[in-house]
Amino acid sequence: MPVGPRARKRTRLVAVKWGARTVLVGGGAPVVVQSMTNTDTQDHIATALQIKELAQAGSEKVRITVNTPEAAAAVPKIREQLDRMNIDVPLIGDFHYNGHKLLSTYPACAQALSKYRINPGNVGSGSRRDSNFAQMIEIAAKYEKVIRIGVNWGSLDQTLLARLMDENALQASPWEASAVMREALVTSAIESAKRAEEIGLPGESIILSCKVSNVQDVVAVYRELSNRCDYPLHIGLTEAGMGSKGIVASTAALAVLLQEGIGDTIRVSLTPDPTGSRSTEVVVAQEILQSLGLRAFSPVVIACPGCGRTTSTFFQQLAAQIQDYLREQMPVWRAQYPGVESMQVAVMGCVVNGPGESKHANIGISLPGAGEAPVAPVFVDGERSVTLKGERIAEDFQQIVDNYVKSHYGTTQGRIS
Ligand code: SF4
Repeated sequence: MPVGPRARKRTRLVAVKWGARTVLVGGGAPVVVQSMTNTDTQDHIATALQIKELAQAGSEKVRITVNTPEAAAAVPKIREQLDRMNIDVPLIGDFHYNGHKLLSTYPACAQALSKYRINPGNVGSGSRRDSNFAQMIEIAAKYEKVIRIGVNWGSLDQTLLARLMDENALQASPWEASAVMREALVTSAIESAKRAEEIGLPGESIILSCKVSNVQDVVAVYRELSNRCDYPLHIGLTEAGMGSKGIVASTAALAVLLQEGIGDTIRVSLTPDPTGSRSTEVVVAQEILQSLGLRAFSPVVIACPGCGRTTSTFFQQLAAQIQDYLREQMPVWRAQYPGVESMQVAVMGCVVNGPGESKHANIGISLPGAGEAPVAPVFVDGERSVTLKGERIAEDFQQIVDNYVKSHYGTTQGRIS
Protein backbone atom coordinates (compact mmCIF):
# COMPACT_ATOMS: atom_id res chain seq x y z
CA MET A 1 0.00 0.00 0.00
CA PRO A 2 1.55 3.36 -1.02
CA VAL A 3 2.66 5.65 1.80
CA GLY A 4 2.61 9.43 1.51
CA PRO A 5 0.40 12.34 0.52
CA ARG A 6 -2.19 11.89 -2.20
CA ALA A 7 -1.33 13.38 -5.61
CA ARG A 8 -1.63 17.14 -5.49
CA LYS A 9 -4.92 18.50 -6.75
CA ARG A 10 -4.15 20.07 -10.15
CA THR A 11 -4.62 23.83 -10.01
CA ARG A 12 -3.71 26.68 -12.33
CA LEU A 13 -0.16 27.92 -12.18
CA VAL A 14 0.21 31.47 -10.84
CA ALA A 15 3.49 33.40 -10.98
CA VAL A 16 4.10 35.96 -8.22
CA LYS A 17 6.99 38.16 -9.36
CA TRP A 18 9.38 40.78 -8.18
CA GLY A 19 12.35 41.71 -10.36
CA ALA A 20 14.17 38.55 -11.34
CA ARG A 21 12.41 36.53 -8.63
CA THR A 22 9.39 34.43 -9.51
CA VAL A 23 7.49 32.41 -6.93
CA LEU A 24 5.28 29.80 -8.57
CA VAL A 25 2.03 28.90 -6.83
CA GLY A 26 -0.15 25.96 -7.89
CA GLY A 27 0.15 23.94 -11.07
CA GLY A 28 2.09 21.26 -9.23
CA ALA A 29 4.80 23.66 -7.97
CA PRO A 30 6.13 22.97 -4.45
CA VAL A 31 3.87 24.29 -1.68
CA VAL A 32 4.94 27.87 -0.91
CA VAL A 33 5.51 29.26 2.60
CA GLN A 34 4.33 32.76 3.35
CA SER A 35 4.09 34.98 6.41
CA MET A 36 2.92 38.41 7.51
CA THR A 37 4.57 41.29 9.32
CA ASN A 38 3.19 42.81 12.52
CA THR A 39 5.06 46.09 12.38
CA ASP A 40 3.41 49.44 11.67
CA THR A 41 3.78 49.59 7.88
CA GLN A 42 4.35 53.33 7.89
CA ASP A 43 7.56 52.65 9.82
CA HIS A 44 9.28 51.54 6.65
CA ILE A 45 12.62 50.72 8.26
CA ALA A 46 11.15 48.48 10.99
CA THR A 47 8.88 46.80 8.43
CA ALA A 48 11.72 46.20 5.95
CA LEU A 49 13.85 44.72 8.72
CA GLN A 50 11.09 42.34 9.79
CA ILE A 51 10.48 41.31 6.18
CA LYS A 52 14.20 40.62 5.89
CA GLU A 53 14.06 38.44 9.01
CA LEU A 54 11.03 36.54 7.68
CA ALA A 55 12.59 36.09 4.22
CA GLN A 56 15.87 34.87 5.68
CA ALA A 57 13.93 32.39 7.83
CA GLY A 58 12.47 31.03 4.57
CA SER A 59 9.27 32.97 3.91
CA GLU A 60 8.84 32.99 0.12
CA LYS A 61 6.22 35.75 0.10
CA VAL A 62 5.54 38.32 2.82
CA ARG A 63 2.27 40.16 3.39
CA ILE A 64 2.08 43.62 4.88
CA THR A 65 -0.87 45.65 6.12
CA VAL A 66 -1.76 48.57 3.85
CA ASN A 67 -4.47 50.34 5.80
CA THR A 68 -3.80 54.08 5.64
CA PRO A 69 -2.42 56.69 3.21
CA GLU A 70 0.77 56.75 5.29
CA ALA A 71 1.14 52.96 5.00
CA ALA A 72 0.51 53.10 1.23
CA ALA A 73 3.14 55.85 0.90
CA ALA A 74 5.60 53.72 2.86
CA VAL A 75 5.26 50.64 0.61
CA PRO A 76 7.63 51.83 -2.16
CA LYS A 77 10.16 52.88 0.49
CA ILE A 78 9.96 49.40 2.03
CA ARG A 79 10.50 47.82 -1.38
CA GLU A 80 13.50 50.10 -2.08
CA GLN A 81 15.00 49.32 1.31
CA LEU A 82 14.61 45.59 0.67
CA ASP A 83 16.11 45.85 -2.80
CA ARG A 84 19.10 47.69 -1.29
CA MET A 85 19.53 44.75 1.13
CA ASN A 86 19.23 42.24 -1.75
CA ILE A 87 16.00 40.85 -0.34
CA ASP A 88 13.88 40.08 -3.39
CA VAL A 89 10.95 38.43 -1.63
CA PRO A 90 7.64 39.42 -3.27
CA LEU A 91 5.40 41.65 -1.12
CA ILE A 92 1.66 41.25 -0.73
CA GLY A 93 -0.52 44.18 0.30
CA ASP A 94 -3.34 43.38 2.70
CA PHE A 95 -6.30 45.63 1.90
CA HIS A 96 -9.61 46.12 3.69
CA TYR A 97 -12.29 48.83 3.28
CA ASN A 98 -10.17 51.43 1.47
CA GLY A 99 -7.95 49.35 -0.85
CA HIS A 100 -9.57 50.83 -3.99
CA LYS A 101 -8.71 54.35 -2.83
CA LEU A 102 -5.18 53.55 -1.68
CA LEU A 103 -4.26 51.61 -4.80
CA SER A 104 -5.54 54.34 -7.11
CA THR A 105 -4.14 57.28 -5.11
CA TYR A 106 -0.72 55.66 -4.57
CA PRO A 107 0.32 54.09 -7.88
CA ALA A 108 3.88 53.57 -6.61
CA CYS A 109 2.40 51.39 -3.86
CA ALA A 110 0.35 49.44 -6.42
CA GLN A 111 3.49 48.82 -8.48
CA ALA A 112 5.80 47.94 -5.59
CA LEU A 113 3.50 45.15 -4.44
CA SER A 114 3.54 41.81 -6.25
CA LYS A 115 0.13 40.70 -5.08
CA TYR A 116 -2.98 42.25 -3.52
CA ARG A 117 -5.05 40.47 -0.91
CA ILE A 118 -8.67 41.48 -1.33
CA ASN A 119 -11.32 40.51 1.20
CA PRO A 120 -14.67 40.53 -0.62
CA GLY A 121 -16.45 41.01 2.71
CA ASN A 122 -14.60 44.28 3.30
CA VAL A 123 -14.77 46.19 0.02
CA GLY A 124 -17.85 48.28 0.77
CA SER A 125 -21.58 47.76 0.65
CA GLY A 126 -24.43 48.18 -1.82
CA SER A 127 -23.55 49.55 -5.25
CA ARG A 128 -20.17 50.80 -3.97
CA ARG A 129 -19.16 47.22 -3.23
CA ASP A 130 -19.07 46.21 -6.91
CA SER A 131 -17.37 49.38 -8.12
CA ASN A 132 -14.74 49.30 -5.34
CA PHE A 133 -13.97 45.68 -6.12
CA ALA A 134 -13.81 46.40 -9.87
CA GLN A 135 -11.45 49.33 -9.25
CA MET A 136 -8.98 47.08 -7.42
CA ILE A 137 -9.18 44.37 -10.05
CA GLU A 138 -8.62 46.88 -12.86
CA ILE A 139 -5.49 48.16 -11.10
CA ALA A 140 -4.22 44.59 -10.62
CA ALA A 141 -4.82 43.91 -14.34
CA LYS A 142 -3.14 47.17 -15.36
CA TYR A 143 0.05 46.42 -13.39
CA GLU A 144 -0.11 42.65 -14.07
CA LYS A 145 -0.36 41.77 -10.39
CA VAL A 146 -1.70 38.65 -8.74
CA ILE A 147 -4.64 38.88 -6.35
CA ARG A 148 -5.75 36.65 -3.54
CA ILE A 149 -9.45 36.62 -2.91
CA GLY A 150 -9.15 36.13 0.82
CA VAL A 151 -12.49 35.34 2.45
CA ASN A 152 -12.56 35.22 6.23
CA TRP A 153 -15.50 34.13 8.34
CA GLY A 154 -14.92 37.06 10.68
CA SER A 155 -15.72 39.43 7.83
CA LEU A 156 -17.96 37.36 5.59
CA ASP A 157 -20.08 39.19 3.00
CA GLN A 158 -23.29 39.64 5.01
CA THR A 159 -25.49 40.27 1.96
CA LEU A 160 -24.43 36.95 0.46
CA LEU A 161 -24.87 35.13 3.76
CA ALA A 162 -28.40 36.56 4.18
CA ARG A 163 -29.28 35.50 0.63
CA LEU A 164 -28.06 31.93 1.19
CA MET A 165 -29.84 31.75 4.57
CA ASP A 166 -33.09 32.80 2.89
CA GLU A 167 -32.66 30.26 0.10
CA ASN A 168 -31.83 27.55 2.64
CA ALA A 169 -34.96 28.31 4.67
CA LEU A 170 -37.09 27.54 1.61
CA GLN A 171 -35.54 24.09 1.10
CA ALA A 172 -37.50 20.96 2.01
CA SER A 173 -34.59 19.82 4.21
CA PRO A 174 -32.69 22.94 5.24
CA TRP A 175 -29.01 22.70 6.18
CA GLU A 176 -27.73 23.64 9.60
CA ALA A 177 -26.66 27.27 9.91
CA SER A 178 -22.98 26.27 10.11
CA ALA A 179 -23.23 24.48 6.75
CA VAL A 180 -24.81 27.55 5.18
CA MET A 181 -22.00 29.66 6.60
CA ARG A 182 -19.40 27.33 5.03
CA GLU A 183 -21.26 27.46 1.75
CA ALA A 184 -21.26 31.27 1.93
CA LEU A 185 -17.47 31.30 2.36
CA VAL A 186 -16.92 29.07 -0.67
CA THR A 187 -19.49 30.90 -2.79
CA SER A 188 -18.03 34.29 -1.89
CA ALA A 189 -14.54 33.21 -2.97
CA ILE A 190 -15.60 31.59 -6.25
CA GLU A 191 -18.12 34.27 -7.27
CA SER A 192 -15.54 36.99 -6.56
CA ALA A 193 -12.90 35.18 -8.62
CA LYS A 194 -15.32 34.78 -11.54
CA ARG A 195 -16.24 38.47 -11.28
CA ALA A 196 -12.53 39.38 -11.35
CA GLU A 197 -12.11 37.35 -14.55
CA GLU A 198 -15.16 39.09 -16.11
CA ILE A 199 -13.57 42.45 -15.30
CA GLY A 200 -10.44 41.39 -17.16
CA LEU A 201 -7.99 39.75 -14.74
CA PRO A 202 -6.62 36.47 -16.11
CA GLY A 203 -7.60 33.37 -14.15
CA GLU A 204 -3.86 32.64 -13.84
CA SER A 205 -3.54 35.73 -11.63
CA ILE A 206 -5.98 34.58 -8.97
CA ILE A 207 -5.43 32.65 -5.74
CA LEU A 208 -8.24 31.86 -3.30
CA SER A 209 -8.49 31.40 0.44
CA CYS A 210 -11.35 30.82 2.90
CA LYS A 211 -10.08 31.08 6.42
CA VAL A 212 -11.87 30.03 9.58
CA SER A 213 -10.56 29.43 13.07
CA ASN A 214 -11.93 25.93 13.67
CA VAL A 215 -10.00 22.92 12.40
CA GLN A 216 -12.98 20.85 11.21
CA ASP A 217 -14.54 23.84 9.43
CA VAL A 218 -11.31 24.74 7.67
CA VAL A 219 -10.93 21.17 6.42
CA ALA A 220 -14.55 21.02 5.22
CA VAL A 221 -14.41 24.43 3.52
CA TYR A 222 -11.19 23.75 1.62
CA ARG A 223 -12.33 20.29 0.50
CA GLU A 224 -15.40 21.94 -0.99
CA LEU A 225 -13.42 24.80 -2.51
CA SER A 226 -10.96 22.34 -4.03
CA ASN A 227 -13.82 20.32 -5.56
CA ARG A 228 -15.45 23.34 -7.12
CA CYS A 229 -12.59 25.29 -8.69
CA ASP A 230 -9.06 25.01 -10.05
CA TYR A 231 -7.64 28.25 -8.66
CA PRO A 232 -4.58 27.70 -6.45
CA LEU A 233 -5.49 27.69 -2.77
CA HIS A 234 -3.80 29.55 0.05
CA ILE A 235 -4.54 27.47 3.13
CA GLY A 236 -4.28 28.22 6.81
CA LEU A 237 -6.19 28.35 10.05
CA THR A 238 -6.96 31.95 10.91
CA GLU A 239 -6.46 33.21 14.47
CA ALA A 240 -4.81 29.92 15.42
CA GLY A 241 -3.68 31.32 18.76
CA MET A 242 -0.53 31.26 20.84
CA GLY A 243 2.15 28.74 21.62
CA SER A 244 1.50 25.02 21.44
CA LYS A 245 -2.25 25.52 20.91
CA GLY A 246 -1.68 27.58 17.77
CA ILE A 247 0.99 25.25 16.44
CA VAL A 248 -1.02 22.08 17.07
CA ALA A 249 -4.29 23.47 15.67
CA SER A 250 -2.56 24.79 12.53
CA THR A 251 -0.71 21.52 12.03
CA ALA A 252 -3.87 19.46 12.49
CA ALA A 253 -5.74 21.49 9.85
CA LEU A 254 -2.93 21.85 7.34
CA ALA A 255 -1.74 18.26 7.62
CA VAL A 256 -5.16 16.84 6.75
CA LEU A 257 -5.51 19.10 3.71
CA LEU A 258 -1.95 18.71 2.47
CA GLN A 259 -2.17 14.95 2.86
CA GLU A 260 -5.23 15.05 0.59
CA GLY A 261 -3.30 17.04 -2.02
CA ILE A 262 -5.09 20.31 -1.20
CA GLY A 263 -3.17 23.56 -0.77
CA ASP A 264 -0.62 25.44 -2.87
CA THR A 265 0.63 28.04 -0.40
CA ILE A 266 0.41 28.05 3.39
CA ARG A 267 0.61 30.43 6.31
CA VAL A 268 0.67 29.51 9.99
CA SER A 269 -1.10 32.39 11.77
CA LEU A 270 0.47 32.29 15.21
CA THR A 271 0.01 34.95 17.85
CA PRO A 272 3.65 35.59 18.72
CA ASP A 273 4.99 35.41 22.22
CA PRO A 274 5.68 39.04 23.30
CA THR A 275 9.38 38.24 23.53
CA GLY A 276 9.44 35.70 20.68
CA SER A 277 10.40 36.02 17.05
CA ARG A 278 7.86 36.64 14.30
CA SER A 279 9.71 34.14 12.15
CA THR A 280 8.49 31.25 14.34
CA GLU A 281 5.47 31.03 12.05
CA VAL A 282 7.80 30.47 9.10
CA VAL A 283 9.73 27.72 10.89
CA VAL A 284 6.48 25.96 11.89
CA ALA A 285 5.16 26.12 8.31
CA GLN A 286 8.41 24.66 7.01
CA GLU A 287 8.36 21.92 9.63
CA ILE A 288 4.81 20.94 8.70
CA LEU A 289 5.80 20.58 5.03
CA GLN A 290 9.03 18.78 5.86
CA SER A 291 7.35 16.41 8.34
CA LEU A 292 4.84 15.43 5.65
CA GLY A 293 7.68 14.79 3.20
CA LEU A 294 6.43 17.52 0.84
CA ARG A 295 9.51 19.75 0.99
CA ALA A 296 12.89 19.87 2.69
CA PHE A 297 14.14 23.15 4.15
CA SER A 298 16.69 22.35 6.80
CA PRO A 299 18.53 19.26 8.07
CA VAL A 300 16.46 17.34 10.59
CA VAL A 301 17.79 16.58 14.06
CA ILE A 302 16.38 13.32 15.40
CA ALA A 303 16.64 13.30 19.17
CA CYS A 304 15.17 10.93 21.72
CA PRO A 305 13.02 12.40 24.52
CA GLY A 306 15.38 11.19 27.25
CA CYS A 307 14.32 9.11 30.22
CA GLY A 308 15.67 7.70 33.48
CA ARG A 309 18.77 6.57 31.59
CA THR A 310 19.80 10.17 30.95
CA THR A 311 20.80 11.68 34.26
CA SER A 312 22.21 14.89 32.82
CA THR A 313 20.92 17.44 30.33
CA PHE A 314 24.04 17.15 28.20
CA PHE A 315 22.33 15.32 25.35
CA GLN A 316 19.44 17.80 25.28
CA GLN A 317 21.95 20.63 25.11
CA LEU A 318 23.85 18.91 22.32
CA ALA A 319 20.66 18.27 20.33
CA ALA A 320 19.62 21.93 20.74
CA GLN A 321 23.11 23.15 19.89
CA ILE A 322 23.27 21.09 16.70
CA GLN A 323 19.74 22.10 15.69
CA ASP A 324 20.55 25.80 16.17
CA TYR A 325 23.86 25.43 14.37
CA LEU A 326 22.24 23.78 11.35
CA ARG A 327 19.54 26.45 11.14
CA GLU A 328 22.08 29.26 11.44
CA GLN A 329 24.16 27.81 8.62
CA MET A 330 21.24 27.26 6.24
CA PRO A 331 21.12 30.74 4.63
CA VAL A 332 24.68 30.09 3.36
CA TRP A 333 24.51 26.30 3.02
CA ARG A 334 21.30 26.44 0.98
CA ALA A 335 23.17 28.10 -1.87
CA GLN A 336 26.55 26.47 -1.32
CA TYR A 337 25.59 22.89 -0.57
CA PRO A 338 22.37 22.01 -2.39
CA GLY A 339 20.76 18.88 -0.99
CA VAL A 340 21.96 19.55 2.56
CA GLU A 341 18.37 20.34 3.57
CA SER A 342 17.60 16.59 3.37
CA MET A 343 20.37 15.59 5.79
CA GLN A 344 19.39 13.81 9.01
CA VAL A 345 21.42 14.06 12.21
CA ALA A 346 20.61 11.84 15.20
CA VAL A 347 21.48 12.83 18.76
CA MET A 348 20.55 9.98 21.12
CA GLY A 349 20.72 9.70 24.87
CA CYS A 350 21.91 6.13 25.45
CA VAL A 351 22.78 2.75 24.01
CA VAL A 352 19.19 1.42 23.95
CA ASN A 353 18.13 3.14 20.70
CA GLY A 354 21.23 5.28 20.15
CA PRO A 355 23.28 3.13 17.75
CA GLY A 356 20.20 1.88 15.86
CA GLU A 357 18.72 5.33 15.28
CA SER A 358 22.14 6.79 14.53
CA LYS A 359 22.72 4.20 11.80
CA HIS A 360 19.52 5.31 10.03
CA ALA A 361 20.65 8.96 9.93
CA ASN A 362 23.40 10.49 7.80
CA ILE A 363 25.32 11.18 10.98
CA GLY A 364 24.44 10.08 14.48
CA ILE A 365 25.90 10.12 17.94
CA SER A 366 24.95 7.83 20.79
CA LEU A 367 25.76 9.58 24.04
CA PRO A 368 26.52 7.65 27.22
CA GLY A 369 23.48 7.03 29.42
CA ALA A 370 23.61 6.58 33.18
CA GLY A 371 26.03 3.83 34.14
CA GLU A 372 27.50 3.53 30.63
CA ALA A 373 31.17 4.09 29.82
CA PRO A 374 31.72 7.84 29.13
CA VAL A 375 32.21 7.44 25.40
CA ALA A 376 30.06 8.49 22.44
CA PRO A 377 30.28 6.44 19.24
CA VAL A 378 29.58 8.38 16.05
CA PHE A 379 27.96 6.77 13.01
CA VAL A 380 28.42 8.13 9.48
CA ASP A 381 26.26 6.80 6.65
CA GLY A 382 25.29 3.80 8.79
CA GLU A 383 28.84 2.81 9.70
CA ARG A 384 30.48 3.23 13.05
CA SER A 385 33.12 5.95 12.74
CA VAL A 386 35.06 7.61 15.55
CA THR A 387 34.30 7.41 19.28
CA LEU A 388 34.26 10.75 21.06
CA LYS A 389 35.03 11.28 24.74
CA GLY A 390 36.14 13.97 27.14
CA GLU A 391 35.16 17.61 27.44
CA ARG A 392 34.95 18.43 23.75
CA ILE A 393 32.32 15.95 22.55
CA ALA A 394 29.98 18.75 21.43
CA GLU A 395 32.64 20.69 19.53
CA ASP A 396 34.09 17.57 17.92
CA PHE A 397 30.67 16.31 16.83
CA GLN A 398 29.81 19.70 15.32
CA GLN A 399 33.06 19.58 13.37
CA ILE A 400 32.19 16.11 12.05
CA VAL A 401 28.79 17.41 10.90
CA ASP A 402 30.48 20.38 9.24
CA ASN A 403 32.95 18.15 7.41
CA TYR A 404 30.17 15.81 6.30
CA VAL A 405 28.22 18.70 4.74
CA LYS A 406 31.25 20.02 2.90
CA SER A 407 32.22 16.60 1.57
CA HIS A 408 28.77 15.31 0.62
CA TYR A 409 26.77 18.21 -0.81
CA GLY A 410 26.91 20.75 -3.59
CA THR A 411 29.81 22.51 -5.17
CA THR A 412 32.49 21.34 -2.75
CA GLN A 413 31.62 17.66 -3.19
CA GLY A 414 34.59 15.43 -2.46
CA ARG A 415 36.51 18.00 -0.47
CA ILE A 416 36.95 17.72 3.28
CA SER A 417 38.17 20.89 4.92
S1 SF4 B 1 17.50 6.28 23.61
FE1 SF4 B 1 18.02 5.79 25.74
S2 SF4 B 1 17.95 7.78 26.77
FE2 SF4 B 1 16.85 8.05 24.86
S3 SF4 B 1 14.72 7.66 25.44
FE3 SF4 B 1 15.56 5.74 24.64
S4 SF4 B 1 16.23 4.64 26.48
FE4 SF4 B 1 15.95 6.79 27.08
